[in-house]
Amino acid sequence: MVYDDQNIFARILRGELPAIKVYEDDQVLAFMDIMPQAEGHTLVIPKTPAVTLLDLAPEAAAYTIQIVQKVAQAIETALGAQGIVLMQLSGASAGQTVPHVHFHLIPSSVHELGKHAVQMGDQDKIKAQAEQIKSALEAL
Ligand code: 5GP
Repeated sequence: MVYDDQNIFARILRGELPAIKVYEDDQVLAFMDIMPQAEGHTLVIPKTPAVTLLDLAPEAAAYTIQIVQKVAQAIETALGAQGIVLMQLSGASAGQTVPHVHFHLIPSSVHELGKHAVQMGDQDKIKAQAEQIKSALEAL
């Protein structure tokens, strides 16, 4: 699928738009979702340009999942999450709204998920949660 380098996450990766980051290395970025479906909703993205999971090189997918696991552990520790929904929407038909592949980590139950990407979260509260997750990541 053709990659649009003006998509929101590409702009976040280039530092053109702000994000509340919890983890970054040379291949992956993890940051808080701006319209969380639950407290602690975090997104993990590979830095390589790919629209959907199917466009992502297997090596990049494998590395990204390692970081997804690490961030999930930190969310569990930091926020006392009892369970985490891992969601990955590939394609607009599946409901994908930002065309850069990403993994949602949502500390919630599938039965309690809120509406997808519709309501802005309290950014101060989200920043505080990010600090907790960052501390837990540093302790891993
Ligand atoms: P998708 O629908 O593509 O699976 O998920 C995109 C996610 O990105 C949604 O959960 C939405 O709330 C989030 N999102 C959209 N725009 C922004 C933004 O500018 N910053 C951040 N941090 N998240 C965003």
